[in-house]
Amino acid sequence: MTDYEPVIGLETHIQLNTTSKIFCSCKADSWNDGPNTNICPVCSGLPGVLPVLNEKVVEKAVILAQAMHSDIQSVSFFDRKNYFYPDLPKGYQITQYDQPIGKGGYMEVPMPDGKSCRVGIWKLHMEEDAGKTKNVAGERWVDYNRCGVPLIEMVTAPDIRTAEEAGQYLIRLRQLLRWLGISEADMEKGQLRCDANVSIRLKGDPKLNAKTEIKNVNSIEAVKSAIEKEIDRQIREVEAGNRVEAWTLEWDEDAGVLKKMRSKETEADYRYFREPDLLPVRLDDEWRNKILADFPELPLERKSRFVTKYGLPEYDAEVLTSERTLSDYFEATILNYPGDPKRASNWIMNDVLRMINDMAIQAGDLKLTPVYLADIIKLVDAGTVNTSTGKALLIKVEESGEVPGKIVEREGLAQVSDDSAIRQICRELITEYPNEVDSYKAGKVTLLGWFVGQVMKKMRGKADPNIASQVLEELLR
Ligand SMILES: [Zn+2]
Repeated sequence: MTDYEPVIGLETHIQLNTTSKIFCSCKADSWNDGPNTNICPVCSGLPGVLPVLNEKVVEKAVILAQAMHSDIQSVSFFDRKNYFYPDLPKGYQITQYDQPIGKGGYMEVPMPDGKSCRVGIWKLHMEEDAGKTKNVAGERWVDYNRCGVPLIEMVTAPDIRTAEEAGQYLIRLRQLLRWLGISEADMEKGQLRCDANVSIRLKGDPKLNAKTEIKNVNSIEAVKSAIEKEIDRQIREVEAGNRVEAWTLEWDEDAGVLKKMRSKETEADYRYFREPDLLPVRLDDEWRNKILADFPELPLERKSRFVTKYGLPEYDAEVLTSERTLSDYFEATILNYPGDPKRASNWIMNDVLRMINDMAIQAGDLKLTPVYLADIIKLVDAGTVNTSTGKALLIKVEESGEVPGKIVEREGLAQVSDDSAIRQICRELITEYPNEVDSYKAGKVTLLGWFVGQVMKKMRGKADPNIASQVLEELLR
């Protein structure tokens, strides 16, 4: 069989999390609002009004461009992209065309097999979103809330070769957008949208063939299945002696199939020209430096630093850098518990992360601060409380916001290491359970653990299990 190579490029639309829209003061996020509630003459395209650029949009675009290693332009322009569609009341979209804010760049995408895939970025530009239409009882209804919502469109080079690479690119992009705090990047809410350009060629052939564009895919899994299906379809067409036509395809989520929407438009169909109502975007050094003054260490850099500086396994470093406040939480814990980073990592990955997931919050929102977590680990290390009390303390601190030591004192949670108190309880147990004592003496030594459990029960979890175990062994001899 002939060996084909897929060539894939992705266009992503990223909804920025600004308070207001890109060219007016309407609220940008309408997720919980009724149709046509966040609109004004500017974003609903009434005549005689002028757009005013929201500076926050430029700032967030510059941050993303920096993270993508793009060439950030000191002067860029807005253009009109003309087309007629009911969700576009002006008859054109204000976007950036040949002079966008970011040119070139790349994103490093680590793959699950340990390799890394570098995906080139062609350009990154700012634009306004369009509204949306839906069919209701035979009528076409339109909601303009989304008109003027700020977007960044980012176009990759055709560097992606598999559906899996496309999926990993989106996973890393989503992580990065949240890390940078510029977008919530929730695909289900349309805050991160992806169109995929797919073509195939014979392996080793430098030529690019006609590509199709897949639109309207709203989850990473769907992007992967749509790409896989399209690669298979194109191979079948070519094998049957047909040509692949430059179609635009729509993903039908329910049926899991691609449908032809239209033959693809060419750029010329849009009759781009400079937006006469807006000045060029001038980004002087002072503004640019101010925007990038607090530019953070990025997730992959932080991950490798966690491995080298703290000696964490790759897996721990990956989990702890999955989200920015979690990685901050880990480092703040280490500041207060410098002795054993791996031990702190275990507490966070096993227990703290479960609490975070159960409560659906971020690490930065925990009342169990890194200082309190470090306190609890130290209490366990010192033998003041046993491990299970330590774990229960995590929840008590989270519920009350109180200092762990105070809770231990007030509730009398300190571990009983007093030999005589434990000995007394052990003696009682031996009288209460003669059958178990006989079985133990007859060789069923695993019963020792059961006896220790009974001691813990009688002492409400506060006994030092090591001492209980020693005393029992002695008494049962
Ligand atoms: Zn408006």
